[in-house]
Amino acid sequence: MLEDKNPQRTSLEELGEFGLIEHLTQNFELQRPSSLKGIGDDAAVLDFDNKKIVVSTDMLVEGVHFDLSYMPLKHLGYKSVIVNLSDIYAMNAMATQVTVSIAVSNRFPLEALEEFYAGVATACKLYKVDLVGGDTTSSNKGMIISVTAIGMGNEHEITYRSGANPNDLLVVTGDLGGAYLGLQVLEREKEVFKVNPNSQPDLEPYSYLVERQLKPEARKDVVELLKKLEVKPTAMIDISDGLSSEIMHLCKHSEVGCNLFEDKIPLDPTVISTTEEFKMDATMIALSGGEDYELLFTIDQKDFDKIKGNPNLTVIGHMTEKTAGAHLITRANTKIAITAQGWNSFKG
Ligand SMILES: [Mg+2]
Repeated sequence: MLEDKNPQRTSLEELGEFGLIEHLTQNFELQRPSSLKGIGDDAAVLDFDNKKIVVSTDMLVEGVHFDLSYMPLKHLGYKSVIVNLSDIYAMNAMATQVTVSIAVSNRFPLEALEEFYAGVATACKLYKVDLVGGDTTSSNKGMIISVTAIGMGNEHEITYRSGANPNDLLVVTGDLGGAYLGLQVLEREKEVFKVNPNSQPDLEPYSYLVERQLKPEARKDVVELLKKLEVKPTAMIDISDGLSSEIMHLCKHSEVGCNLFEDKIPLDPTVISTTEEFKMDATMIALSGGEDYELLFTIDQKDFDKIKGNPNLTVIGHMTEKTAGAHLITRANTKIAITAQGWNSFKG
């Protein structure tokens, strides 16, 4: 849980609630002109001039969304911010502020929370967002994290799930399936460790996958890239649950169908080799794996030349009339209906 092997343990009670927040947030400096007042009053004050405001919130629960036996707290702090920023970028907006609230048992020492906030601070710095509020409270079960992300954009740039049209191209960023396989690798090592606590896991061959799971990135760069290329997506969503369920969301909200081509789905070589090792199907993992935090969007065909050849962007299909439905066209050229079997947090 803690990176230091001989950690100091300061009890949370020593600081009290207000002292704790002050202690954990004292080194956060405001970076955004829109953050007029951050932490330190009853509420933050933000000023966005004439921009539209985008807000998204997410909750992470120990044992459901993360496992502290292999998730270092610093990574957890980082990831908690990243998954929320991803939702702001999925609106084609720029993330500007976050609030972070946590509930922990008082068995957590102060040093553990400092690790968590070090991860929050790294994400804030890298993505240029300000921490402007939050709360800490006690939990008598597991750790609970709630992050709210705030962003802004011009009205004509904000992109909804609902704008896709038949014949639009379906585009995905990066590659898929890595985060889910990283989780499988970590779960396997955890089981090995339970049987033999002296075993030294060799995660090196899986480093890309483990990083995708423990330290994901949000595609701020893609929002900036699209602006530079002068491409306004017609619809957009981030891939938190798996490609198939995100495609279903776009189809439903835009009232269109879709043809997705199996041979176009971008996969890292490690994803292909590890699915072979685990006797899994790489396409299936990309479709339902989840947690990749890539962006999935549609563009008008006339914009194809602007994105063509960009290594960050892959055209994986096109939208159709709603009546045609949503289908995967396999390598063998058979047509299979796509179902929303994306990763489900309520699944046992
Ligand atoms: Mg989302």
